[in-house]
Amino acid sequence: MLAAAVETEPGEEPLLPLTLESQRLWPDFARELAEATGISCEYRDEGTLVVALNRDDAESLRHSFDFQKGLGLDLEWLNAAEARRLEPHLRPGIAAAVLSRNDHQVENRALARALIAACRAAGVQIHEHCAVTEVALQGGKVGGVETAAGREAADVVVLAAGAWSREVGGIPTAFRPPVRPIKGQMLAVQMDQAAPLLRHVVWLPNGGYLVPRDDGRLIVGGTVEERGFDTAITAGGLFTLIEAAWRAVPTIEELPIAETWVGFRPGSRDDAPMLGPSGVDGLVVATGHHRNGILLTPVSAAVVSQYILSGQLPEMARPFDPQRFAKPRPTRMAEAAK
Ligand SMILES: Cc1cc2nc3c(=O)[nH]c(=O)nc-3n(C[C@H](O)[C@H](O)[C@H](O)COP(=O)(O)OP(=O)(O)OC[C@H]3O[C@@H](n4cnc5c(N)ncnc54)[C@H](O)[C@@H]3O)c2cc1C
Repeated sequence: MLAAAVETEPGEEPLLPLTLESQRLWPDFARELAEATGISCEYRDEGTLVVALNRDDAESLRHSFDFQKGLGLDLEWLNAAEARRLEPHLRPGIAAAVLSRNDHQVENRALARALIAACRAAGVQIHEHCAVTEVALQGGKVGGVETAAGREAADVVVLAAGAWSREVGGIPTAFRPPVRPIKGQMLAVQMDQAAPLLRHVVWLPNGGYLVPRDDGRLIVGGTVEERGFDTAITAGGLFTLIEAAWRAVPTIEELPIAETWVGFRPGSRDDAPMLGPSGVDGLVVATGHHRNGILLTPVSAAVVSQYILSGQLPEMARPFDPQRFAKPRPTRMAEAAK
């Protein structure tokens, strides 16, 4: 989901210029990728509905709606009949919904395939299934990386290993990005491709969501769990997802389960991205994207490349300088107090 509007929560206001800019970049980014590779990311612009199933949900939705409208976001309050005209399979008797026309979606697996093909076409060498074991430092500066297949020399290394970014060796502890894995269990049910149950992305009152894909899969997501790199798919996780989906769209109970999987969101200490200098000369960080890494793909690429080429972060990315987590150097007074 490319959900700059409906995902914005109180406290996340500094992130909004970045998410909105990325949302603005997405249509051209998807088109250019398709032109360069022949692979479509299945960019879809029907928009997103956030549904309230009862009065409690409606009060809470009104609260978010007022907050997000106050930020200037383009959202529309719908009554139950208006919402069910857009999505007739929503449960009769829902309380209300909010329509966000600008929150679109792409197929993230197709995006990865397209990016790999576009990089190769541009002359990038990709070594797959070849872990970087260590960032090699020479005199405190980056000299390259050690991989399972040997050493690669480089003046600049971009650390973009998602939830694993802290695990990469060779980086002094003080400069390791403080990211942790935030587990998400997901499942997909198979709709009739010719007559899909839903066309919009639908957000549910418990924070879950339903995303209809072009191939007829309906993605039901996602749990949010602090369990390290635990890959277990649990009965409780699937139950939570299915129950929330069924309460909004009861007809899903007829649909076959197509797939289940687990992913890890890279969460930083303040849950915001880390883009730019690591504190080690030549080591640039692009991680901590948490639940917005797909949305933030085009803007992250633009910010990181601008930083590498000019040494400057664009204004909108300054709040996400990884140096915000650097430990302050001890002051003379603190030293004297020891
Ligand atoms: C359930 C779930 C739902 C989500 N939904 C959305 C959504 O709707 N919209 C959205 O915008 N975002 C969403 N996200 C978040 C998004 O997926 C992440 O923010 C994004 O994938 C982060 O991208 P990344 O490239 O930093 O990390 P990743 O996508 O995790 O990629 C990191 C890569 O680095 C590799 N790697 C790790 N260690 C090493 C090493 N030592 N050497 C070499 N390679 C290494 C890993 O194998 C992996 O391929 C969701 C995430 C989850 C889990």
